[in-house]
Order: sequence, then C-alpha cells, then structure tokens
Amino acid sequence: MTTIKTSNLGFPRLGRKREWKKAIESYWAKKIDKAELDQTLTDLHRENLLLQKNYNLDSVPVGDFSLYDHILDTSLLFNIIPERFQGREVNDDLLFDIARGNKEHVASALIKWFNTNYHYIVPEWNNVEPKVNRNVLLDRFNYAKSLNVNAHPVIVGPITFVKLSKGGNQSFEEKVQTLLPLYKEVLQSLVDAGAEYIQVDEPILVTDESANYEDITKEAYNYFAEAGLADKLVIQTYFERANVKFLSSLPVGGLGLDFVHDNGYNLKQIEAGDFDKAKTLYAGIIDGRNVWAADIEAKKELIETLQNYAETIVIQPSSSLLHVPVSLDDETLDESIEEGLSFATEKLDELDALRRLFNNSDSKKYDELKARYERFQSQSFKNLEYDFDSVPTSRKSAFPERKKVQDARLNLPDLPTTTIGSFPQTREVRKYRADWKNNRISDEEYNNFLESEIARWIKIQEEIGLDVLVHGEFERNDMVEFFGEKLQGFLVTKFGWVQSYGSRAVKPPVIYGDVKWTEPLTVKETVYAQSLTDKPVKGMLTGPVTILNWSFERVDVPRKVVQDQIALAIDEEVLALEEAGIKVIQVDEPALREGLPLRSEYHEQYLADAVNSFKLATSSVQDETQIHTHMCYSQFGQIIHAIHDLDADVISIETSRSHGDLIKDFEDINYDLGIGLGVYDIHSPRIPTEDEIATAIDRSLQQIDRSLFWVNPDCGLKTRKEDEVKDALTVLVNTVRKKREETSQNKPA
Ligand code: GLN
Ligand code: ZN
Repeated sequence: MTTIKTSNLGFPRLGRKREWKKAIESYWAKKIDKAELDQTLTDLHRENLLLQKNYNLDSVPVGDFSLYDHILDTSLLFNIIPERFQGREVNDDLLFDIARGNKEHVASALIKWFNTNYHYIVPEWNNVEPKVNRNVLLDRFNYAKSLNVNAHPVIVGPITFVKLSKGGNQSFEEKVQTLLPLYKEVLQSLVDAGAEYIQVDEPILVTDESANYEDITKEAYNYFAEAGLADKLVIQTYFERANVKFLSSLPVGGLGLDFVHDNGYNLKQIEAGDFDKAKTLYAGIIDGRNVWAADIEAKKELIETLQNYAETIVIQPSSSLLHVPVSLDDETLDESIEEGLSFATEKLDELDALRRLFNNSDSKKYDELKARYERFQSQSFKNLEYDFDSVPTSRKSAFPERKKVQDARLNLPDLPTTTIGSFPQTREVRKYRADWKNNRISDEEYNNFLESEIARWIKIQEEIGLDVLVHGEFERNDMVEFFGEKLQGFLVTKFGWVQSYGSRAVKPPVIYGDVKWTEPLTVKETVYAQSLTDKPVKGMLTGPVTILNWSFERVDVPRKVVQDQIALAIDEEVLALEEAGIKVIQVDEPALREGLPLRSEYHEQYLADAVNSFKLATSSVQDETQIHTHMCYSQFGQIIHAIHDLDADVISIETSRSHGDLIKDFEDINYDLGIGLGVYDIHSPRIPTEDEIATAIDRSLQQIDRSLFWVNPDCGLKTRKEDEVKDALTVLVNTVRKKREETSQNKPA
C-alpha cells in the first residue's frame, strides 16, 4: 500500500481570540501604526503555520492568510485595481481602501463565497492594466520556508477568479487569456522558490455552469503545461461534485475533490473509473465547514475504498477551514458535548490519526477518536417527540379576508411606514450587554437600561410619525445567536468565531440536540414597548430557515427535520406574542436565498422545505394577526414563487440599490400580498433626499397595487448612528405625508 499523506486547504485567519480582527481594527482606528500591525500579523501567521505543522501535515497552505480577503489579494497581485483607485501605490492601505471605501470613493462590492457565509471582494475590470504586481504570495511562501514549514502555495485559479469578477469590455474567455501569462509568471516564481506543488482553487468548476467553461479551462491548463508546470499544479474543487472525468483529462499533477458535500457523486465517479490514476488524489474527507467530530471509522473505510482507484492519496479537509473556529482548547463546554465537536485544529488531529493508522500501523490516536465518537453517538440528543402534523401550515383564511380584518383592527393610513426591527447598537448598548453577561451588573440594572432604551426609541418613532413601531432589538447580540442562547438544543460557544467578511466575524450557535421552546424569548421587551404607545408594535423574530443557515447544523438528523423543529419553537413564540396582545409579528428570513444549494437540481426541494418551515412557524395565529417577513436582497428571480408561497401578510425587501432588477422579477408574477420595498440604502451613512424616496415609491407603485404597499428602509438600522437614523426616517415619513396629501387632493369630489 502506498503511504497516505495529509494536507490542508486553508486555515482560519482570525486567531484563537480574534487577534487578527483586533489588530486590523486598531490599525484602522489609528491606535497602532503600520509597523505594529505588520508585526502582529506576522506573529499570527507564524503561529498558524507552526500550529498546523504540529499536526504533522505533509504540507501546510500558504496564501490563505490575508489582510482582508484572498480574492482581493489576487486582484492586487494581477493589478486588477478598480478604476477609481488606480494611480496609487499598490500597498496594504490601498487594499484596505478598496475593501472599505474611503472619503472619495465607494468600496468594491462584497459577495457571498459560493454557499458559505464568507464574503469576498469582487474584482473590477474596468480599464485595468493587468500585470504582476507585488507578489505577496511568494513572500509568504518564502516566510514559511524560513520557519522550516513544508508549505504549498494556494492561489485562486483563473477560471474562478475571472468568473467571480465584473466589469471591463473583454469577454470572460479574453480575460482568462489575458491573465494566463501572469499566472504562469507567478506559478513559475513559486516553483523556482521551491514549491513542490501549488493548490489552484477552482471551486467554480462545481457549479451547474461549469460545463460551459470546459474549453477555456482546457486552454488555461494546457497553457500552463506547455510552460512545464503540469506536475506542479493541483486543481482544487470543493463544496459540491466536480466533473471528475473532465478534470482527469487535464494536464495537471493532482485533483482535489470534496467527498463530504458532493452528495456522494465524487465517489461514484471515482468508482466508475473516471479518475486518472497517474494523478495524485487530494481527497477532502473531513468536513471543512461543520464543527462535528468525524466518524473516524467511516473515514478509514473511505480511504480504503479510494485506494482501489488512486495510487497516491493526500487526505485533507473538504474545503478551507476558514469556515470553522480555530480550536476547542479555550472552550469550557460540557464534556459530553465537547467530545462530539471538532474545530480547525481538531480536524487536523483527525487527519493525523488516520495518517498514523495507515502509515505506521499506529492506532493509538485513531482508537481514541473512535471511542470518543462512539461515546458521543451513544448519548441521545434525539429525545423529543414532535407532532408536526398538529401545527397548521396554512392560515385560517386566505389573504384577502385576513387583510380585511387586519385593516379594520390596525387602522393604518395609506402607504403605512415601518422599520425592519433594529435601532443603533451603540457602544453603550454593547457595553451594558457585556457587563451583564460578565456579571458586572445585575439583571435589574440591565433590564432598567433596556427599558429606558426602548422607551426612548418608542418616543423617537412617535415623534417622527412612523405607523408600525418596533422595540429596537437592544437585547440582541445577533439575530441568530440570541435565539440560540434561549432555545433548547443549541449550544453557544465562547470563541467559536468565523470570518464573515473583512474584520467582521460571527459566532454561529451549534445545534446539537432536539430543538425546543421552553420560555418566552421576546415577549417581555415587546410587551413593554407596546405598553408605551397606542401605535402597533411589531414583534420581531428570526425565522427557522435563517436560524438553521446561520448555525452549525447537526448531522445526525435530516436538515428538514431540524428546520421544522426550529419552526415549531418559533410558532410557540409567535403564539406567545399574539396571546400577549401583539398585533403585528415579523419573522425575518434574510438567509432564505443564500441557503439555496449550489446545484439547481436541489433547489426545488430546498425551497419547498423552506416554505413549509416558514408556514409551520407562522400559520397558527388568528386572521387578525398580521405576519410580516423580511429579506435583505432583491435578486428574487428564481425564488419569487417561493416567496409568494410563504403567504406572509407583508414582506419587506431591499431594493434601493437595484430597483430595476426587482421590478423585472415582479413582472413575472402577480404579487398580490402586502409588500414594503426598501426606499433607502441603510448601508451608507448618507441621508436620502425626499426626491429620491418619492421616486423610489413612484416606481414601485407602477408595479404594485397601492393598497398593498408599505414604505420602509432596506434593512435593520443597528449599524447606523442615532442621528443618521432619525434624519433618514424623518425624510421618509415626510415624503410619505406629501404623497398622502397629493392623492387626497387629487381625489374627485
Ligand atoms: N430584524 C433584523 C434587524 O432589523 C433584520 C436583520 C436582517 O435582515 N439581517 O436588524
Ligand atoms: Zn435585512
């Protein structure tokens, strides 16, 4: 038997205690200078490299570490600089300005990295002059070598890089062709520096469209082969199945395949003989995106199977470990649960255990992990009974009848105004919450603070003249973690952070057991807010699809079941709010669209399940209770029918940045439920003008019946400053007042 080698695709940048984030933000805030930033980040990079080396990896990735985003690094490497930022020296300050914007220029767009919660900076091709710029990748590779770390460079491949970028006059193929000599130069520099192989990430090759890219992919890798690089390149795919036969036909030394998130198809293709045995198989066998300990015995068997079809095998995580927290070492979790978990370093330990087992007949670590896994599995976290059928999945009456009773009860004006839920999470709000969590202040002090903040904002909303008010979400750290803390079956970690974009990290809760509602989650704050005003206060919940998508999900129960369990918990909360007299309840589903599987063959089932869960969560109420939902995006195209099927009385969506797209989507469907289109962009501190808002309203009213139309900002206001919120909402309400007057004057006598 040949030896089994181990490798990794990428390691979290954040650091165990988010040192990376803190250093970068301190630099932005001018609390540390560039020299100190560089030193801190070099230390952290060294720590990451040495930490991985400790697990005896045959090769550690380099090029995954970055000051912001590895796609942006690649843009700078090839001088793909947005036109408005051109002419400056290419350095880290330019990098930060492109990522964050500066006084003169807006930032580049951020887009989700495939179906993960990571966001990359979109490369912009308008009037660029591609060339090889500062080669940070080479510097980092040399740095790893200087530490005696056996490393391989990682670079995003030309097909993926170009496909994820925008702008410029050249066609997709022409852009790839433009970059080929530049890639060749960089790849050659790495080989000259001693790289044994280079991991070329081409995740775009797992999408439905990848069949259209085969010609250009062939052209690109043939070009590298002609330059003598063939043996040095590994085409790395992840997140879904790839076309193994096609990739096998390319002149490269190795192929990286995901054996966890491929729905079994990569293995099937291998078993069908599609893999070229002359190549090295980089087998992604450990889940790089979830936090569960591997079923190590099953992994051993998978390797044994793969050995029948490949002569040289490198085992590794299924994707970069960017998507999981660093280490369990700092957590203080219940041991019985901790045994079932595996963060980045624990995953490397799993690879090490398998390597020892296969190469050295050393089963000590393997046996240990196997015993742990079995102990964890033997505990039952499946201990609740659910009667999903007893909860309705459709409202008592159809929308037109519900609307009548709701209108009569709420008595709202023409073009009612509302907000999406959150008000500014000021430094003070965050400090009170942290003090309370760390027992520095009492429950009473904390509650008093929350009440005073709610009361202050109820008054502000009344003064501005909004129609449906909110309590402001001051008690919430995050719209998912907050629910995770309160629902049974969830675990909230201390340091389980993962990078979302730039310096922003989220701490997804871990769903480990059956989910159950045990106590009211939001009733106290909502009822308090309602007690202060005659206007309706909207209850504010996160929906089951979003809670699941933004958590680490359990894998011992089908996804749909977990989602429905969460739905029943939300249903209980909806009923508790209704019972407490709340007349309007919003169930946010901002993650519904992003959870859409990469391959379209799974879309229909995903959407059907999502709709079912949302309806489970929201259909038990009386007709007179108005259910809202909210989604912060506007590319509805392929999901518009599912959105309609949710049967929410009112949906609020983002539109201010892409009005045209939305109107187009709505042409295909007669949207006959209540709908609020975001009339200004909350991501910018800019205060909108009355003209802008009036235009946004007028355009929407061409498409949507006025009696169904609501006016609201694009999304929650938690990241804005208090004055910005007050000023912008005042403009919004004043514009609506004028619109109302116009129509009452125009009415025939
Ligand atoms: N209710 C949430 C808020 O206002 C919604 C956030 C979101 O859509 N991401 O912050
Ligand atoms: Zn939103």
